[in-house]
Amino acid sequence: MSVSRRKFLGWLSAAGVGTLVGTSARAAGNKHFTGYPGSFGVLHDTTRCIGCRLCEKACNTVNELPDSDPSFDDLNVLEQSRRTDAAHYTVVNRLAPVREGGKPLYVKKQCNHCLEPACASACFVKAFKKDPSGAVSYDASLCVGCRYCMIACPFNIPAYEYDEPLTPRVMKCTLCQPRIEKGKLPGCVEICPGEALTFGKRDDLIDMARQRIRKYPGRYVDHVYGEHEMGGTSWLYLSPAPFEKLGMREDLGVKPAPELTAGALAAVPVIVGLWPVLLTGVYAMARRRDRIAAKELADAVAANQAAADEALAVKMEEMRTKAAKEKEAAIQREVKKALAEAEEARKAAEEAAVAASDADAEPEASDKEEDK
Ligand code: SF4
Ligand code: SF4
Ligand code: SF4
Repeated sequence: MSVSRRKFLGWLSAAGVGTLVGTSARAAGNKHFTGYPGSFGVLHDTTRCIGCRLCEKACNTVNELPDSDPSFDDLNVLEQSRRTDAAHYTVVNRLAPVREGGKPLYVKKQCNHCLEPACASACFVKAFKKDPSGAVSYDASLCVGCRYCMIACPFNIPAYEYDEPLTPRVMKCTLCQPRIEKGKLPGCVEICPGEALTFGKRDDLIDMARQRIRKYPGRYVDHVYGEHEMGGTSWLYLSPAPFEKLGMREDLGVKPAPELTAGALAAVPVIVGLWPVLLTGVYAMARRRDRIAAKELADAVAANQAAADEALAVKMEEMRTKAAKEKEAAIQREVKKALAEAEEARKAAEEAAVAASDADAEPEASDKEEDK
């Protein structure tokens, strides 16, 4: 962080961000837009980045995104080239050193908050718009889930909440607009220990970047990435090597996305007229496909439920039959036992009777002996 809070708040009041933010932006749709004066941005000086991933952690914290797995302290993930996703608005990638024996390079990726965003020009319900603060904001309540923004973005940034079954959203860096409105710095800028990230007015950041290039010509290539790419972006970069070596596209040209779209379509006027119809048609097809998928899912669930009910009924019947058999066997055991006990009692009674009759007969014999 290299901007004092006082200076920052001064900017806010001077720029009137509190009132500017939320006013209707001209950037949405296919209209040419040259940028809001005094809007904000961030300069990422890759020569100062140490790859600590603290910015990633802070981003998830301030945006209430889930914890990372593996954790943000695990720097082994820097071995892989990663892209942003629904749970990570920003990622830091490690690249090979520019010179042999030199230090590796680290580059932070996130939405670049284009001055004329391709995502906004592709979005026919205007869920994306460029705000006066500099942020390209997204309104989930307008989004119909067509995902044209994901196809349109030249930086491959917007991600979709595929795991969210009911209300999936397109997810990307917000430039921490809610924090900016409260006079706070973006979470990643605030935490960055090496001042690899500087928040400020875009024009001032461009001046700062040029000054650094002038002062340290051996340290930087003479190029501020984002100053002109795709019509300019609010996120700007300095690098010690050509940007393509940092995995950044240098083939984008300087024309903004809406201008490119309009130019291409103007060559085929019929298509220009049909474009909204085509988009709506594609959208309708996507919706129909989703409806069919939803019906198939519902049918599959119902079929599974019926099969489960049937299996349960069979099981219950088996259990009932088994219980009945066990009960019958238990009754028979009890009857058998009772009969056996009765038989034993009968035998005992018989034996007792025999013993009693023998006892009666014995005195008669002794009487006869005495008569003799
Ligand atoms: S980087 Fe992509 S998602 Fe971000 S504003 Fe530009 S086009 Fe839109
Ligand atoms: S500006 Fe905010 S949302 Fe964007 S990467 Fe930084 S912390 Fe994340
Ligand atoms: S916090 Fe700063 S130094 Fe650390 S990885 Fe992020 S940009 Fe680089």
